[in-house]
Amino acid sequence: MRAIVVGAGIGGLAATLSLRRAGHEVTLVEQTPRLTETGAGIQLAPNATRELRRFGRLDEVAAQSARPADVSFRTWSDGTEICRYALGREAEDAFGAPYLQIHRADLQRALAAAVPPGAVRLDTQVVGIGQDDASAWATTADGERLVADLVVAADGIRSAARQWLFGTDEAIFSRTAAYRALLPAAEVADLDLPDTGVWLGPGRHFVHYRVRRGELLNVVAVFTTEVAAQESWTARAEPGEQLREFEGWAAPVLSVLERAGQVFRYGIHTRAPLARWNVGRVTLLGDSAHAMVPFQAQGAAQAILDAAVLGDSLADVTPDGVPEALERYVRRRLGTATGMQARSARAGEEFHLPDGPEAQARNARMAAYAAEHRFMPVATAWAVDVLDDKEQT
Ligand SMILES: Cc1cc2nc3c(=O)[nH]c(=O)nc-3n(C[C@H](O)[C@H](O)[C@H](O)COP(=O)(O)OP(=O)(O)OC[C@H]3O[C@@H](n4cnc5c(N)ncnc54)[C@H](O)[C@@H]3O)c2cc1C
Repeated sequence: MRAIVVGAGIGGLAATLSLRRAGHEVTLVEQTPRLTETGAGIQLAPNATRELRRFGRLDEVAAQSARPADVSFRTWSDGTEICRYALGREAEDAFGAPYLQIHRADLQRALAAAVPPGAVRLDTQVVGIGQDDASAWATTADGERLVADLVVAADGIRSAARQWLFGTDEAIFSRTAAYRALLPAAEVADLDLPDTGVWLGPGRHFVHYRVRRGELLNVVAVFTTEVAAQESWTARAEPGEQLREFEGWAAPVLSVLERAGQVFRYGIHTRAPLARWNVGRVTLLGDSAHAMVPFQAQGAAQAILDAAVLGDSLADVTPDGVPEALERYVRRRLGTATGMQARSARAGEEFHLPDGPEAQARNARMAAYAAEHRFMPVATAWAVDVLDDKEQT
């Protein structure tokens, strides 16, 4: 069969690999002239890396990644450790796939390397999607009609396809934004930072981990704000803005923010859950379907799981069976992805509790959980093999 995938972000690339693996011919259409993921780091939990292995890309991705040993949750003001969870060898043994941290550009390159150049249409904006009983198509800005058996819209949080399919809901500003920066890991070697750190404070949290084989430190400093900011990887913060926002935080946090060089400001948005992602021969995938706040580091992972299930649902399907196969795909994915949207939002509320009894109770809960579990609560989702649910089909 032939498929058109709109958008060459992590979701669209993963969908392309998964559909090709299922034996289908794919045209991947991307509006930007080059495949260059902007943005900084991304954490790939074992539920995502398990699928990257199935796509035949795990070794390439792992070769560019950092492999953290653990994650330390700390208090904002004095850096006291609340709890620590394993992410390294123990996690790989338990979940059968590694926890990796990678620069987005490195991930995109590793995925794109497995897509034949002839299957990619760059610099091509899709301006409409249509279908009839026998086929589906994407119309490009140049007026060309690309026809196939199905269209997968992996066109991100500002998805136009979502509007064409389901009407005019907009991306929702989460009232959080993030300062983000990348700096050479050597520049913070004296700070004795934990391998991966999540520092929790009132209305804010600060995350750091290494990417690019450990050479760079990726920093994400999240704060609540009523000032709606763009979701942009390239919008620059004012010099020193991040230091004012995190005034009073523990010395290592402030040292990282001081040394950060160019800092970017990213307004975090979400999409409301949908009751369905598909109409006939067309479906959404990734952020277009279920953009979430990134506080469980699962947005891209869920897009990768969508891709895996999409390919699996369409294996051995003939063109007549596409609408039904897309129903199966959505049935297998929608509940989990929607649950992860809600779980990520709840994590933000927990992380940002004001100082006082509520934060103390949260810290006590986290410490008690860590005393009994080697892996953090979201790891229950890492354990699920998304292709093990065929009985639901
Ligand atoms: C600060 C932050 C940190 C995050 N950290 C993590 C993390 O650690 N782990 C994790 O799993 N997730 C994380 N996420 C979430 C993750 O980044 C997203 O879920 C993921 O990138 C979504 O991928 P996508 O392919 O669905 O969309 P996108 O990456 O947005 O890709 C959409 C693509 O479609 C193209 N496009 C759009 N419209 C058209 C059109 N009309 N025609 C042609 N092409 C089009 C765009 O140019 C783009 O290339 C984080 C998000 C943020 C904001």
